[in-house]
Formats: sequence, C-alpha cells, structure tokens
Amino acid sequence: MPSPARLQAMHTILERQPVPVEPAASLESLWASDVFGLETMKSALPKDVFKSIQRSIRLGSKLDLGVSDTVAQAMKEWACARGALYYAHVFYPLTNLTAEKHDGFISPQSDGKAIAEFSGKLLVQGEPDGSSFPNGGLRTTFEARGYTAWDVTSPAWLMRTANGVTLCIPTVFVSWTGEALDKKTPLLRSNAVMNRQAQRLLHLLGETDIAPVNSSCGAEQEYFLIDAALGALRPDLQLAGRTLFGAPPAKGQQFDDHYFGAIPDRVQVFMQDVELQLYRLGIPAKTRHNEVAPGQFEIAPYFEAANVATDHQQLIMTVLKATAKRHGLTCLLHEKPFAGVNGSGKHVNWSIGNATQGNLLDPGKTPHANLQFLLFCAAVIRGVHRYGPLMRAAIATASNDHRLGANEAPPAIISVYLGSQLEDVFNQIKSGKLEGSAENALMSLGVDTLPDLNRDPGDRNRTSPFAFTGNRFEFRAVGSGQSVAGPLVVLNTILADSLGWISDQLDDQLASGASLEEAAFAVLKRTMDDHGAVVFGGDGYSSEWHRVAVEERGLENLRTSADALPVLERMEIRELFERQGVLTPLELESRFEVYTEQYILAIEVEARLALRMARTQIQPAVTTFLQRLASSIREQEALGLVTDRSVIERVAHLHQQLTQRSTELEAALQGAPHEVHGHLRHCADTLLPLMGQLRETVDGLEVLLDDDLWPLPTYQELLFVR
Ligand code: ADP
Ligand code: MG
Repeated sequence: MPSPARLQAMHTILERQPVPVEPAASLESLWASDVFGLETMKSALPKDVFKSIQRSIRLGSKLDLGVSDTVAQAMKEWACARGALYYAHVFYPLTNLTAEKHDGFISPQSDGKAIAEFSGKLLVQGEPDGSSFPNGGLRTTFEARGYTAWDVTSPAWLMRTANGVTLCIPTVFVSWTGEALDKKTPLLRSNAVMNRQAQRLLHLLGETDIAPVNSSCGAEQEYFLIDAALGALRPDLQLAGRTLFGAPPAKGQQFDDHYFGAIPDRVQVFMQDVELQLYRLGIPAKTRHNEVAPGQFEIAPYFEAANVATDHQQLIMTVLKATAKRHGLTCLLHEKPFAGVNGSGKHVNWSIGNATQGNLLDPGKTPHANLQFLLFCAAVIRGVHRYGPLMRAAIATASNDHRLGANEAPPAIISVYLGSQLEDVFNQIKSGKLEGSAENALMSLGVDTLPDLNRDPGDRNRTSPFAFTGNRFEFRAVGSGQSVAGPLVVLNTILADSLGWISDQLDDQLASGASLEEAAFAVLKRTMDDHGAVVFGGDGYSSEWHRVAVEERGLENLRTSADALPVLERMEIRELFERQGVLTPLELESRFEVYTEQYILAIEVEARLALRMARTQIQPAVTTFLQRLASSIREQEALGLVTDRSVIERVAHLHQQLTQRSTELEAALQGAPHEVHGHLRHCADTLLPLMGQLRETVDGLEVLLDDDLWPLPTYQELLFVR
C-alpha cells in the first residue's frame, strides 16, 4: 500500500469531478473576441487614425504619437465595456517568463466620484520598477529605471482571471539609456534587418514591387500533465519543475501505446478549455494530440508573424498552466520532467515572406522562383554553418541540456537537414553542374534546369536539430519551456547576415560582367563549397555522426550549456549582433551574464533540493525500513526460522552510500568557485554528476523499501494516474 500521503492524494483524484467548460455559441462569436485587433480598431477608430495605425502595423512605419490619445480612448472603452478595471503593460524579461505591470483605469475626481481614464501617454509608455528583473549589470539599482513602450505590431488583449478582466498591452522593456532589457526588442530589430537584407537581394534579382518581408513562426508546444494532488507531494516538481529522483516504472513508454492514442477524458476537457480561451485571444490553436511519453501532449497553433507568434506562445504557456490548475492538474513545461521517458521540445517552424513574393522559402514551381528560393535557402545554410554554435547557445538552458543529445531529442551538434531531393540539388550545384539539362551551355550552368521541387519532400528526419520541411525550417532543438524569441532572433539575424553576404557576392559578380544566372550559380557554388559541411541527412542520434561531425566536418559539439553559453562572448558573435544592429556589445554581455546566472542558479537550487530531500525525506524512510527489517529478522531468529539477510544488507549498503553521497554533494555545493566560467564548469562537471550519483542511490532504495514508507509519489503514479 502507498504511504498515507500518497494514498490520500489517490482518494482526492478518484473523487475528482470534471470541471465544466462553458460551451461556445459559435466559433465566429468566440474568435478573437478578447483582442483589440485590426478588425476591432477599424470599427472603433476614426478612419485616418485607423489608417495611421494600420501603416505602422503593416509597413513598420513609426507610430504617430498624435493618434495615441484617440487609440487609448477607444481601447479603454472597448476594454471597460467588457468588464476591465485594470490595464497592464506586458513585457518579456530575460527569464523566459512574462511580466506585467498593472494599473487601474480609475481616476478619482474632485467631486468625490471616480471615472475610468486612459491616455495616449499611458498607452504608449510605462515605467515599471523593473529593478528586480535580471539585467546583467545593465542598470545598477540607483538608476533602476526601466521603460515599457507599446508594440503596436502585436494586438492588445483581455486577460480574464478569477480577479477580473485586465487590458493587456504588449510592450518592449528598455533601460532608461535605451538598452534592451527584454526579448521583444531584439526580435523586432532582427526582423527589421532581415527585411532590409531580403529586400536588397530581391532587388538584385530584378524584383521591383517588394512588400515588407516578415518572419513567421509556428511553434509546437509539448507538455506533461500530472495530477496536482500528486504533484504537490513532490518538492522537486514544485521547485525545479522536474523529478530529481524516481525509479523507472515497470511499464514506461515501451509500448508506444500513448502516442496518438485516445486522449483521456479529463485531458480532453482540459484541452477544450484551453482552446476556447485561446480562440478568444485570437490564437489559432490547431492540432492537439498525445505525445510519445505517457502523460505527454502537444498543442500547435497555426503560424503567424514571428512577433505576434512569440507573444501568443507566451500566452499559450500561461493559459496551459493556469487552466491545468483549474482542472486539478499540473502542467509541466520542463524539458525533461522524468528521466527515462521522452522529454518535451518546442519545434519552432520558421519561414520568411511578404505579400508580393510570398513565402521566400517555398521552392515554388517556376525556375525563376527556384533561383530565388535557392539563394534564400543557401543563405540559411551559410548562416547555420557560420553560426551553429550561436544557435546552440540560443537554446542553452540547464533544463534543455537534459534533453538534447538524449536518445529521443536532437543532438547538440547543429546541422541542417534538407531532404534528399533538395540535398541532391545542392550537391549538384557543388559539383559544378546541374544534371538533366541539355538545352544549352549557359542554361546548364543556370537555373532553368532546376527540377521542380515538391512542396513537401515527404521524408522527415526527426534526428536533425534543424530541418527543412517543405516550405520552412523547423528548429527542433528548442526547449519546451523556452521563449521562442531568442531562437527567432538568432535565425533572423544570421539570415540577414548571410543575405547581405550573398548580395555583396552577387554585386561583385554582376560588376565583372556575369549574367544574373551565372552570378547566382557562382554564389550558390561558393556557398556550398564553404558551408556545405553543415548539411547532413543521416542519423543524428548515431555515435558515428558525433565523430564525423566533429572530426571530419569541423562542427562543434557543445554538449552542455556550460560549453554553449560562452559562445556569446566570442568576438565574431559580438560583431555579428553589432553589425546587424540587433544587440549592442553591452546588451549581448548582459545577456551572457543573465543566462549564465540562470544556469548556475537552476543547478544549485536543484542540488540543494536533492540534498534536502535525501536527508529529510529519504533518509528517515530508510532508517525506519532498516529497523523494521532488523526486528523482523530478530523475530524470525527467535522462532528458529531461516532468515534472508540479502535485502537488509543491500539497503544498509545503499543507506551508507546515501549518507556519503549527500556529504559529497554538500561539500561540492560549498566549494563553488566565484569566477563565472569556473562556476559554470563546476555546475556541469561536478554538481550534475554528483546529483546523478545521489539519484542512483535513491532510485535503488525506492525499489527495495516497503511501499508504505516511500514518501514520494512514484513514476507510475505520476505518469499513469489521471
Ligand atoms: P509536425 O509534423 O512537425 O508535427 P505540424 O503540422 O503539427 O508539424 O506543425 C507544423 C507547424 O508549422 C504548425 O504550427 C504550422 O502552422 C507551422 N507552419 C506551417 N507552415 C509554416 C511556415 N511557412 N512558416 C512557419 N511555420 C509554418
Ligand atoms: Mg514538428
């Protein structure tokens, strides 16, 4: 029988009643009903004001502050009519979380009455006391002013909680000297430089009508659901979001019976609740299904402009967590909540395009479009080859390290998967000629000979961290708990850099008299010669690839965040961000500081927690068990029965090991070096292995102790009881 606490949790679970979800009248009435988007603005604003706002949103032109009072007024009326008493500037600090500064609309009047008030000034700029947000030394506390500024390109929305309705305004968060303290500012900047460089290349290719180019993102979110009553009994899930101990259950995911299986009833209701809320928020949640591990699920919205998708992604995480609570569940967004079962990722599907040329990563049907496509695709390949380590750094967190390179997740080596058809085209380019064309000599070097590419080349390679999937790239190494902003900033920035390089090369070739086709082919060939090593279509999980990638292809295998984060300090990375105007050296430095601090903190918190759980929960249970065993043996001996001492001996051995390993971990925690690089290494090379050893001991004890003594809900209970 389980321990009393676990038993009580089970009773709670058995008695749970489904939480009713209010059915929607219709999708039309629900869709985006809580969003102050273009549609709403069109009917709420005078024509000229609407046009001005629309220009800022569509063309990225500077916001006309003259219209802000009118917009604020309309926004306030819209929100108040729906019950809002408060408004909040929402921003995205460097923690992967969402932050809000709430204010009341209320304005007391001299006659003792109160009215709701909201001005353009309050809409456009806020001043939260952001001094406690991590900023990596960008602001010392005596000048701890931070400003939020309205991002007009992402719509405002209403947040409904038990406390009422709040108008949420998406903002950037910057220091009083203008440095980015958040994840949105560089995302907007990276999109702008990508747009500039894409325009330049399109011009070179002869386009004259070119709409602003925007990046798009569709992020697939994986997550675990466990019952909240069981989760509450695990300090590790509460504090670290993952289990620090836990022996594998007799049945794990071996049967693959969860994947795409029937969704459990309680989870169905939860998902429906989540989706209804997302629809109100104008978030196009599309697919939902079980994932590989028991208790694991996925939600994927339809793709949107990267900036909006990023805000929506943050909202999805918030809604998932809050809704789970209402249904007596706990939603785990950690990348590896359970050892031995699959972890959770967030596949970031990314493409770029505009209203005139369409998706620039779509191979299309015509040769001309193929030429354009090949150059943009080559730009991506070059970017990944030059800056793969930066991509690795962009997904470097203590939690994602548990997943990368495990048997179910992409390796930490960043390569590009193109699919066999496209890989073949690029290989032909590399070899200097494209096969299958006999028309004429010039064309055999040119683009008319390129085959039509299928939209979806069919084959998928799940072992690649970065894969072309028909008309977009899918960055699969991103962690489930991360903001997608960081990865998107890197993708946009390295693409901008490569597009610039390609345009320079084309310019040179054209200046020396080459035709556009000849010039393009030469640039494509050079790109593949220099950067083709990053293209890989084989099994990314294999040990052979780990060897070949590093030894023969010269790619880096940055196994842990302790290896990956220092990439942010490299000169070429600093130059890249500075050249592109995405992050100043100071801003980059502050990011390095914040991310390393978070990595160190995450691991040290876990280490302290493991130690405390071992001493205050496991140790006492083991002692009781040993006493129980000893007295039982004494009784058996008194009766002259044959006694089996094997269990007591094994437990006694593990008990001693528990003490010893706890002591070692404690000493290591105290012996952390102060210098940041040493500290990083200490976490990765000393603390984590010691925690692993301690875990081994505890998990060994779990399968030997009497069940009624085991204090922690087991993997079986956590993964299978719902
Ligand atoms: P998977 O096979 O990887 O599970 P899904 O079809 O479930 O793929 O999800 C694909 C995701 O990619 C969705 O969010 C979808 O909207 C997004 N997506 C599709 N086309 C594009 C594109 N051109 N740019 C960005 N994202 C896209
Ligand atoms: Mg996917």
